[in-house]
Amino acid sequence: MSDFSMALNEDQLALQKWIHEFAVEAIRPNAEEWDEKEEFPWPVVQQAAEIGLYGWEFMAEVMINDPTGISAVMAIEEIFWGDAGIGMAIMGSGLAAAGIAASGTSEQLMEWVPQCYGTADDVKVGAFCATEPDAGSDVGGYRARAVYDEATDEWVLNGTKAWITNGGIANVHVVVAVVEPEFGSKGHASFIVPPNTPGLSQGQKYKKHGIRASHTAEVVLDDVRVPGHCLLGGKDKLDERLARVREGKRGNSQAAMQTFEATRPAVGAQAIGVARAALEYATEYAKERQAFGKPIIMNQSIAFMLADMATEVEASRALVWKAAWLGKQRAYKNAEGSMAKLKAARTATWVTERAIQILGGYGYSREYPVERWHRDAKIHDIFEGTEQIQQLVISRAISGLRIE
Ligand SMILES: Cc1cc2nc3c(=O)[nH]c(=O)nc-3n(C[C@H](O)[C@H](O)[C@H](O)COP(=O)(O)OP(=O)(O)OC[C@H]3O[C@@H](n4cnc5c(N)ncnc54)[C@H](O)[C@@H]3O)c2cc1C
Repeated sequence: MSDFSMALNEDQLALQKWIHEFAVEAIRPNAEEWDEKEEFPWPVVQQAAEIGLYGWEFMAEVMINDPTGISAVMAIEEIFWGDAGIGMAIMGSGLAAAGIAASGTSEQLMEWVPQCYGTADDVKVGAFCATEPDAGSDVGGYRARAVYDEATDEWVLNGTKAWITNGGIANVHVVVAVVEPEFGSKGHASFIVPPNTPGLSQGQKYKKHGIRASHTAEVVLDDVRVPGHCLLGGKDKLDERLARVREGKRGNSQAAMQTFEATRPAVGAQAIGVARAALEYATEYAKERQAFGKPIIMNQSIAFMLADMATEVEASRALVWKAAWLGKQRAYKNAEGSMAKLKAARTATWVTERAIQILGGYGYSREYPVERWHRDAKIHDIFEGTEQIQQLVISRAISGLRIE
């Protein structure tokens, strides 16, 4: 195992500079427009695909080929520094790819991950569908069913998925469904729903508080038939796993949780991008804005607030990068991925709120970006495991007890 270091190598520094330039030139200038439109920013994602920032090859490069684990979180921070809504539009397919990677065979990975992204000439997106209207944190409460039809070697999916990033507009939907209702979350399996499969449709599109450029919708599954080979991991492996649960042996951890655990440092990195944007903006504003005959930063109450904001951002990044490195070494001990996500999300929500305070009335106006950043920051306390679910995971890990 290599030692943990936050020093970036030359390749990582070049990658950081390249993404930052794209964020400055192509993401930031478009952020307000797509937030107001509340639509998926296809032209910006297209641009990202043209330069090679959006695509499965890029994901493979930063996720798989980087032994430090840090390239991915560094890249994500830069994209989200540009804008979180557009950032989610660029990164959302990664959740589907992670879902496939968590449960699929290498053949399934090679077949379906590229189809989550398409090509620069024909950009596509992917969706990971786990949450349901009546079950988010409580994954054991999922009701969407997958039933095997032996006669045709097909799985038949029925149910409704809620709050799905890219739901209904995705080329490939990865769906977590119940195959054995008696086993709770241990009776789940993940399925690929290939492009244009009859029976899959988009339900309501949500009107959101933040990350409004990211498309979030219900996915309705009405007798969706997928071929047997669309079961991630394959039938033999599923039967084996269910037999182990039946015998009371420890099964593999649930499909959805595997995905979420692996992506937590990345969500923390998203939050840091938003927090850093707000910190930088508020610092510059405080140096310019005059009150009582001097720049407001010359008051300790403002300068110290900025000092605390900067400290929180640095502390959060240290946790996120360490967690990303630990994840790469498969060396988590105390749910460090959850700690990093918990801390970075809270930091983003707090720092962006303080940034509004520093801008005063202007901070509360949509003419300035900080109110958008505050709206965008909040999602990080909620998705991919709420604040309380992270606390639950961490408290169980540090105590060894089944805290409820
Ligand atoms: C913009 C957006 C995008 C999303 N994208 C996706 C996606 O692509 N795919 C996907 O599958 N899902 C997605 N989600 C869903 C997201 O992961 C869930 O919203 C989240 O897991 C919380 O579930 P819930 O909304 O049902 O809240 P609930 O689980 O109902 O939680 C409500 C509150 O109760 C608390 N709570 C619940 N259980 C406990 C407990 N045991 N102890 C203490 N407190 C508890 C929670 O922390 C929360 O504060 C997305 C959500 C949003 C808002």
